[in-house]
Amino acid sequence: MTDHRRAKIVATLGPASSDPQSVLGLVKAGLDVARINFSHGDVHSWRSAVDSVRLAQRETGKPIAILGDLQGPKIRIGSVPDGTEIYRGERLDIITGSNAASRSVAGILTVSCPYAALIDEIELGGRVYLRDGELDLLVESIDGPRIRTEVRGGGPLTARAGLHAPGAGRQLPAVTESDRAAVQFAVEHGLDCLALSFVRDREDLDLARQAVGEARGDLPIVSKIETVSAIDNLDAIIEASDGAMVARGDLGVELGAAEVPLAQRKIITAAGRALMPVIIATQMLESMTTRQRPTRAEASDVANAVWDGADALMLSGETAVGRHPVEVVSMMDSIIRTAEQGDPQRTSRSVELSSDTARTISQAVATAVEQHPQVKAVIVFTVSGRSGRLISQVRLPVPTVVLAPTDPVMQRLALSWGVDPRHCDPPDTIEEMLRDVERAAVRELGLAAGDAIVVTGGLPLGQGSPTNFLKLHRIPVADHA
Ligand code: PEP
Repeated sequence: MTDHRRAKIVATLGPASSDPQSVLGLVKAGLDVARINFSHGDVHSWRSAVDSVRLAQRETGKPIAILGDLQGPKIRIGSVPDGTEIYRGERLDIITGSNAASRSVAGILTVSCPYAALIDEIELGGRVYLRDGELDLLVESIDGPRIRTEVRGGGPLTARAGLHAPGAGRQLPAVTESDRAAVQFAVEHGLDCLALSFVRDREDLDLARQAVGEARGDLPIVSKIETVSAIDNLDAIIEASDGAMVARGDLGVELGAAEVPLAQRKIITAAGRALMPVIIATQMLESMTTRQRPTRAEASDVANAVWDGADALMLSGETAVGRHPVEVVSMMDSIIRTAEQGDPQRTSRSVELSSDTARTISQAVATAVEQHPQVKAVIVFTVSGRSGRLISQVRLPVPTVVLAPTDPVMQRLALSWGVDPRHCDPPDTIEEMLRDVERAAVRELGLAAGDAIVVTGGLPLGQGSPTNFLKLHRIPVADHA
């Protein structure tokens, strides 16, 4: 039987990895979801990243989802030259309400911050953090739009680095003007899902869905959990989302690093309860941004995220700007496979039954797989993709192929744990459908005559009926060439 990895890999595309050759390398190494971070680059670079992904998809035949990550109400500084570094004890000035490039005035580095209200939201003697809290500044004086700070924790300063200050950002809307432009881009260029940054409550999701509707799109939205209020409103936010992301970078600044592992557990559990996919993000293989091999702690972090039940694991700077993007994806693929083979999924998650037929069928599939050890695989026939996403959440211990008729449906399924999306035109008759599933079982999963599979789909065929049947099927002796 073919060796399927169950947890999916999300990798961020950036200057180090957006060209067609690099993306092809990433896909061959195991990438399932390409992330475009709208906080960086411009329409031109986003468009070439999308083109590269679709080219690699055509070349490999592997459906790839493109996730557009909206910046949301994140405060950032303006541009600084590559290689800028700040040191403890130095002064750093922040000019609010400005987009100007950084400059040095009388030996003091001056950076801009377009968010004008920052000046009213910080306090003398308070702290300002840059780059996910890596750099720590003490506010010494506030003079007009200028905030003078003393560097308490130094290090490299990068262009458009995120800026945190306790209580700052209150006046930013959940969906900014630049987010609306990015949503428009996402709809026009056939992206498969969006991630919404700095979600605070479920109303933020309503605003994002409204923006997607205004752009005449219908994209699933993954909520990035990275604020204290998102943790406080976790269940309501997840219920209103199509997925969740544990955005550990900003979460670590908001909560403190010590709280991040516990928050990660809580978010995975809440998403699992709601049958939503959850992505673990940030610093998974950070040291490979510059080095050839990960630290032992990073390898353990990846494996533990798999064992904790994450649907997908995400790479950020490692692939966007790192030195070895392809090797990082290969390494993540290898750690996940080793974790999954060493401690494989043996039982399914039980799903709370409801009046929803597709949910009932998913639970029935789990029971059938558990009670009939001769069942070697599950084949899901879907038109909308919904039953493929649901079956993923049941966490079946056997390989699962989802047969879907269109590229967008297959691409969205690339984020779903444990499912292998494959193309199949909608069959007209039950006999034709069974021939399709037998062919998939033999070709994709290496099953043989006599092996049992579970098949689900919607009847009557060809009318987009929601999943409403389950068949225990034995592969007959036949030529499936
Ligand atoms: C994070 O904060 O961990 C994250 C994924 O968001 P971003 O990369 O946009 O900072």
